[in-house]
Amino acid sequence: MKEFFDCLKCKECGRSYPKEALHVCEFDFGPLEATYHYHKIKKYVSRQMIESGPYSMWRYEPFLPLEEEPTVGLHTGMTPLLDAKRLAKILGVKALYIKNDTVNFPTLSFKDRVVSVALSRAKELHYEVVSCASTGNLANSLAAHAAANGFKSYVLIPADLEPAKVIGSLVYNTRVIGIKGSYDKVNRLCSEIAGKYRWAFVNVNFRPYYAEGSKTMGFEILEQMGWKIPDHTVICMASGSLLTKIDKAYQEAILCGLVEEKPYAIHGAQASGCNPITAAFKKGTDLIRPIANPNTIAKSLAIGTPADGYYAIQTIRRTGGYAEDVTDQEIIEGIKILAETEGVFAETAGGVTVGCAKKLIQKGYIPQESQVVLCITGNGLKTAEVLKDHLNPIDVIDPYIQDFDKIVDFEK
Ligand SMILES: *Cc1c(COP(=O)(O)O)cnc(C)c1O
Repeated sequence: MKEFFDCLKCKECGRSYPKEALHVCEFDFGPLEATYHYHKIKKYVSRQMIESGPYSMWRYEPFLPLEEEPTVGLHTGMTPLLDAKRLAKILGVKALYIKNDTVNFPTLSFKDRVVSVALSRAKELHYEVVSCASTGNLANSLAAHAAANGFKSYVLIPADLEPAKVIGSLVYNTRVIGIKGSYDKVNRLCSEIAGKYRWAFVNVNFRPYYAEGSKTMGFEILEQMGWKIPDHTVICMASGSLLTKIDKAYQEAILCGLVEEKPYAIHGAQASGCNPITAAFKKGTDLIRPIANPNTIAKSLAIGTPADGYYAIQTIRRTGGYAEDVTDQEIIEGIKILAETEGVFAETAGGVTVGCAKKLIQKGYIPQESQVVLCITGNGLKTAEVLKDHLNPIDVIDPYIQDFDKIVDFEK
């Protein structure tokens, strides 16, 4: 293995830390982030080399914080980028693409990427128990990857998650612990547990490794766009980590000569019922006011105290993007319009992305003449119940042709 992964560094003061299960700076409590020897990566990687790599997120291994070959999630990533012509027409932009992580492997969300990296690293550091604080998708992915790799796992979630997301963890025979309270309470408890037990909490003490996995969604977009940075990328935000890491992927691709530098905008999307990041952005401040009681059907995004919210705002501002949020009604409309035009059934988070993209185009933050990528991060079957009262009823008939003829409303 080439020596690309350098160390962990504080995002605030730049102090270096060893490549261990560490996530905050001892001096200023800034978050730690993986850094690399880019001059070495630049000499090593090329478009051709990446294209001939494995058909998975691991073709981007030189940009990931491991010291040995990956062992977890070898089939994760390289999800389709769809040329969404019908949706483009309805939303009124020249070109629109769907990065479709609703079909990611194994658990149908972008979280399969982050868990693959975190658990590969957990193996390198000889951890046997893995855990997480989750709004649902992370729990599903952690449980699946843990089962397939011989880890013991515990997942902690708010007790009131969607049934499909609870079952989607339990099926892997993980321990599911439902916490009475919002995600932020779950997360605080996990920090306490992580201080007491030697467990790899993928989004607590392993967060620097976990977070880097999100970059692969950004690299894949670039490659699938023909090694070009899209003019606009719209990304839904929970903690804000995915958004900052897609930008990091774009920056690293420029730095290592995989794409040409050009202006691009990164836009953030949230649900109005839990919009700490978009509210701060719109007010023009860096100061994020926590949302104590999130109230939205987009439960996967319902984080009231977003860990990377500050950095997400910086990224959106620096790139000339905008931050938008949408109501539950608009989320449902977003889910339906994506399904009806492109045949993609997204979860509520995808409805947030589509709904916000529509608003950004209407308001002119995304000009009609531009090229847009929407990051669709989770699968609609996991949150299907939100559509219950919003779809046409089925026609129930007796099994006779006369009865069938009566319900057909177009010419034979
Ligand atoms: C976790 C998640 C996100 C965003 O997560 P960040 O914390 O902002 O990185 C987006 N969509 C879905 C479906 C998720 O599960």
